[in-house]
Amino acid sequence: MWDDKPHEECGVFGIYGPGEDVARLTFFGLYALQHRGQESAGIATADGSRLFIRTRLGLVSQAFAEDDLRLLPGHVAVGHARYSTSGSSTACNAGPMMAESSVGPIAVAHNGNLTNALGLREELAQRGESFVTTTDSEVLTRLIVVSPGETLADKIRRAMPRMIGAYSLAILAKDRLLAVRDPLGVRPLCLGRLGGHWVVASESCALMTIGAEFEREVAPGEIVEIDETGLRSYPGEPNGRHATCLFELIYFARPDSMLHNQRLHLVRQRMGEELAREQPADADIVVGLPDSAVPAAIGYARAAGLPYMEALIKNRYIGRTFIQPDQRLREVGVSLKFNALPEVLDGRRVVLVDDTIVRGTTSKPIVQLLRNAGAKEVHMRVHAPPMMWPCYLGVDLARRDELIAARMSVADIGRFIGADSIGYLSLDGLFRAIGVPGTSFCTGCLTGSYPVPVQLEMDKLVLERV
Ligand code: SF4
Repeated sequence: MWDDKPHEECGVFGIYGPGEDVARLTFFGLYALQHRGQESAGIATADGSRLFIRTRLGLVSQAFAEDDLRLLPGHVAVGHARYSTSGSSTACNAGPMMAESSVGPIAVAHNGNLTNALGLREELAQRGESFVTTTDSEVLTRLIVVSPGETLADKIRRAMPRMIGAYSLAILAKDRLLAVRDPLGVRPLCLGRLGGHWVVASESCALMTIGAEFEREVAPGEIVEIDETGLRSYPGEPNGRHATCLFELIYFARPDSMLHNQRLHLVRQRMGEELAREQPADADIVVGLPDSAVPAAIGYARAAGLPYMEALIKNRYIGRTFIQPDQRLREVGVSLKFNALPEVLDGRRVVLVDDTIVRGTTSKPIVQLLRNAGAKEVHMRVHAPPMMWPCYLGVDLARRDELIAARMSVADIGRFIGADSIGYLSLDGLFRAIGVPGTSFCTGCLTGSYPVPVQLEMDKLVLERV
């Protein structure tokens, strides 16, 4: 197993930009969101009367060539970078999802997971709706289409109470763009301005990439509609409960993105500082597992008064579409992905900071890699609490029986991965670092307490078995 990390969900992007090359801007926006999904990419555009769409398996750069973008005319666009958290990774499951509705054709880019997708799909099928994919994105698209309403915003508003779970949506109609976030605000979604135009994106890093200014997050439960008359906001019903995914802050979202009005690079540094206070170690240097744990390692080093040093070099070109290595490389394990620097490590006691340990399958060889390069001691520190439960809200984690923290005590995990000591950040320490009350977050995979009802036996291929 090369990648013992929770896998990101999807990235969505949208722009209403008369006079702009919206397909190209969406392509660049998806490029910035590539970390959220590498299995397929799709862009849909509209010119006021028709919709155009192109979807393909692979990375954004593989899915679109210059000629593809020329075939996507218009002044409104949405884009989708997909990682399959519902349905398998096939061309027909690639987003955005297209559908005909009483208000014209629509294209829906979805990030998240509906926990009641199976029941909704069965209900819609009984009403005569047919499905061509095995995704919950198609289920919610069809639900919007059949919901009553004179306008698309009306239909969405009527469909939302039926949609249980996580959904951040960028929706294209022939002359407008809509952005929708579930009432719990599980997945991120933000608004930006590019000159006089409006842009929506899963993360603000995509706004920066195209030169747009971050305006604000789309509020939980809010529908935003943008057309030639400007932007209208339809706030959601106040429900008093938000549940942003904690792992967006810990790991998924890019460190240059903003969440809860804070730059995540700085939030993660504070997680490292809290970790150093809660879990000190007698050591000489602090090393972060590239790239995601580097900000927390910097914070840990600062709070511990130890030097932060780069000792692991990551091959950045190993993606998820990676060709299976041959047997010899399988045996050397993580060395295909990481090399260690002996000059930095030799004879030193090392604090290794990571953001998560899912199965423990890569932590063990990484600890060994540090030892082989001369580290005298390796003290593993994790800037999140142990992950003990699966995710049903848009993250491909692992089954409960695969999660190492569900099977072993913390001390046993330390022994299993071969570390001299191990320590995790507490939930309270995590909330202190974020600086926002814990009631604003989903903690399902850490506590087993989810913000919506979940079926514990559900998995991402549930819709393929109906
Ligand atoms: S269960 Fe964990 S990964 Fe899933 S949404 Fe909640 S905090 Fe995020």
